[in-house]
Amino acid sequence: MKQFFNIINGKEVKSSKTFLSRNSSNLSDVIGEFPIADKDQLRDACRAARAAFTVWGKTPAPIRGEVIGNIGRAIAREKETLSQLLSREMGKTLKEARGDVQEAIDTCYFFQSEGRRLYGQTVPSEMRNKELTTYRRPIGVVGIVTAGNFPVAVPSWKIIPALITGNTIVWKPSEDSPATSYAFSKLLEEGGLPDGVLNVVFGLGADSTGAELVELMDEGLLNKFAFTGSTSVGRKIGEIAGRNLMHPTLELGGKNPLVVMRDADLENAVSGALWASFGTGGQRCTSAGNIILDAPIYEEFKQMFLERVKAITIGDPIEQDGVLYGPFINERMYNTWLEHYDWGKADGAVLLHGTGRITKDAPFAGFKGDPSLAFFGSPTVWEAKRGMKIFQTEVFGPTINLVKVDGIEEAIETANAVDFGLSSAIYTNDRQWAHSFKDAIQAGMTSINNSTTGAEAHMPFGGIKGSGNGTRESGIWVLDGYTYWHGVNDDVSGKLQLAQMDTEYPHARAAFDVSSLTK
Ligand code: NAD
Repeated sequence: MKQFFNIINGKEVKSSKTFLSRNSSNLSDVIGEFPIADKDQLRDACRAARAAFTVWGKTPAPIRGEVIGNIGRAIAREKETLSQLLSREMGKTLKEARGDVQEAIDTCYFFQSEGRRLYGQTVPSEMRNKELTTYRRPIGVVGIVTAGNFPVAVPSWKIIPALITGNTIVWKPSEDSPATSYAFSKLLEEGGLPDGVLNVVFGLGADSTGAELVELMDEGLLNKFAFTGSTSVGRKIGEIAGRNLMHPTLELGGKNPLVVMRDADLENAVSGALWASFGTGGQRCTSAGNIILDAPIYEEFKQMFLERVKAITIGDPIEQDGVLYGPFINERMYNTWLEHYDWGKADGAVLLHGTGRITKDAPFAGFKGDPSLAFFGSPTVWEAKRGMKIFQTEVFGPTINLVKVDGIEEAIETANAVDFGLSSAIYTNDRQWAHSFKDAIQAGMTSINNSTTGAEAHMPFGGIKGSGNGTRESGIWVLDGYTYWHGVNDDVSGKLQLAQMDTEYPHARAAFDVSSLTK
């Protein structure tokens, strides 16, 4: 079996405890054995990152940009093999895996040139012979913990901006995708990162490496924390960061609304809704949670949608052709998904489609292959109402609720009636309704006539309410997460001059009364 190691200060480091990574579509296929880094190893990694910061933080940003460009080209060269590994390990289709990897390439190319900007400002002073300037400064050592559903794109959204701005990193990738993360880390190293700039520590989450890395904020070994994962873990990280006066990056869960109005192009809306609900088996933070349907098209949409649901193809995305979605990423996610059937029944929601796990005894017509090799879920559709637990809670699996409303106002109210605010979508051709939705929806991202999913490397990504703390990934907006502003006053007057106190405020002249002209 292939053995993998932590990467600390440029060296491969073993740990005494280990875990296995498996092919999500065939659990008997072991990909490799990975270390569970202990707390002392995490401290070593943080100290290595601290030492490397003194050099990397002072390296000219355009030179750091050259390294980022090298990384982008290395990932582009390995795009196909990395995508194959990602698909095998995590279970998304190859088309999606290629998109996941491409997002990291795009991120590198965007931030390579940011190394030649990272602009500060020159600001006029109220005093003579004094210059004011601002600089973006790196924060220091960044602890990063990521989820496994986007094993390349999501870490790249944190690692690449943190690096271009001069920070150094200790990254704990998800236990769901360690081999993909290891391969990605080697391509990051290949780009020319000095030892200690990127340290990678493997392990599990609660009561393991993830939680222990978070605790190092209290030991003063980290200056910043960046996390993508569930809202419950994000809250804990936010609390610990808060007591250390740090502003963490928190990208959390979602329960994203997709609204279809009575005038929408229903074919287009059904396609968007199907993809938003079942693409990646619903295991995207931006997957649709509730499809909110305007009453006049409710029945027609429901029939069209259910026909498409019955025709979905499911299976091992590498072995089988034409698969829309593959397995659950792990057994824990499958178990949580299974539980939601009880929530729906308890609340009186109507189950329109879905039979839980696909097995030989509970088959699904569109399943290809042997369902006993992994955890595959049948596409599940409910008729639900506001306030029900399945309406409120992120299910993170192939499940969607249809919710009936009457008109745009009720549609918006219903879309906002969850504790999350990540992405959102509306299908309508009425400019006024689209505008009202865009204006009133409580979400970090909105699509008009497209699905709730999707991102581009130069657009801000992130949410509000339970979906995050307002930080943004990607584009120019992410730079604020990995830098602080340094304001500099340069006084060349040769004397002590004090703003406000010595400022030559002008004296206004005698008041001019306009009405005197009309008298
Ligand atoms: P999770 O929070 O259980 O795990 C995510 C990461 O955190 C893993 O690396 C895990 O090892 C680690 N972890 C778990 N418990 C921890 C703890 N107590 N302390 C420190 N680290 C811990 O999330 P998950 O169930 O694996 O992933 C799915 C969740 O991630 C969903 O809620 C999804 O919406 C969210 N997600 C959000 C985004 C986004 O950008 N907003 C993107 C992808 C996934």
